[in-house]
Amino acid sequence: MAADPVAIARDLICCRSVTPAEGGALAFLAHLLGSAGFAVERVTFSQAGTDDVENLYARIGSGAPHLMFAGHTDVVPSGDEKLWTHPPFAGEIADGKLYGRGAVDMKGAIACFAAAALDHLAKHGGRPKGSISFLITGDEEGIAVNGTPKLLPWAAERGEKFDHCVLGEPSNDAALGDMIKIGRRGSLNGTLIVTGRQGHVAYPQRADNPVRGIVSLISAVLTEPLDKGSAHFDPSNLEFTSVDVGNRTVNLIPAEARARFNIRYNDNHTLTSLQRLVETRLAAAAGDRVRWRVEFEPSNSDVFLTTSGPFVDLVAGVAARVTGRTPVLSTTGGTSDARFIKNYCPVVEFGLVGQLAHHVDEHVPIADLENLTAIYREVLAAYGV
Ligand SMILES: [Zn+2]
Repeated sequence: MAADPVAIARDLICCRSVTPAEGGALAFLAHLLGSAGFAVERVTFSQAGTDDVENLYARIGSGAPHLMFAGHTDVVPSGDEKLWTHPPFAGEIADGKLYGRGAVDMKGAIACFAAAALDHLAKHGGRPKGSISFLITGDEEGIAVNGTPKLLPWAAERGEKFDHCVLGEPSNDAALGDMIKIGRRGSLNGTLIVTGRQGHVAYPQRADNPVRGIVSLISAVLTEPLDKGSAHFDPSNLEFTSVDVGNRTVNLIPAEARARFNIRYNDNHTLTSLQRLVETRLAAAAGDRVRWRVEFEPSNSDVFLTTSGPFVDLVAGVAARVTGRTPVLSTTGGTSDARFIKNYCPVVEFGLVGQLAHHVDEHVPIADLENLTAIYREVLAAYGV
């Protein structure tokens, strides 16, 4: 009998695993996978000033190829539970849909991969030809310091080597099968600081108002696009998120103005070349009129692209066969744990449809859970694991 992804998803949704709480979700997975013959490790990571977070690593098989499924059991809070038609941690089914926090992001996909793996093992006498592993964190929706970034080096230290990874984040845009994420833009935060000279508003000639300077620099930086995009990426984009002077006095010209910005950048740039580009443009706009400096924050979100090739083709081909849609190979959206995994093995992101992630009444059609399980099952078969 085939494993039931809906039952597994319901059990997971009933665990209140709001970051950083484990909520019973990893214990449930550990039992499920352990009973199927996986060697299961539960690891807790800590760091001063952050909550301890539990994580799970499970592997079956010892040979190659080694396919890793990555995901997170933690979820964002439900918000006011009274706003939900079906309680967020009850796993209720209505009109062919499973309701609950994490249904699409991403307990549903974990349930589908677990069911697919159990089916695959049952078909092969309980043992894969290669190796299948689960790398599951409880710290993706939070600050993500005690999850994947520590779990990967921990696994590498034990000698774990992965050939490919499927990350089960909700990658599809509007319907199952319409999108696979094969890369992500980088993200860089910075602050532009313009210094002037404080003075009385009635005597501007005795002062130097940094507001004038920062306005001209902001405008100059926004005028010219950073690039035109690339084969797999949209154009890079710089957004100012805050402009601050912090001056509450009506007759005072302030001494300093600050503007914070975030850049989502593509593979035309590296972190360093992008910083140089921004500085060059600011310098040109400022000339010797405006005194400025820019402070970039350290970033752990560099741009990456999983080169198209047999593995991307395999996942895309299976998704197309099962759903009848041709998935777009996309690099849109925010960052994900793929930014850490890509340093260990090629990674593609394919899960459920993302539209309802983090929403009130988050839910997933039962049909999507069944089809995603079928896709994962076929990926395991085609991968030859
Ligand atoms: Zn997620």
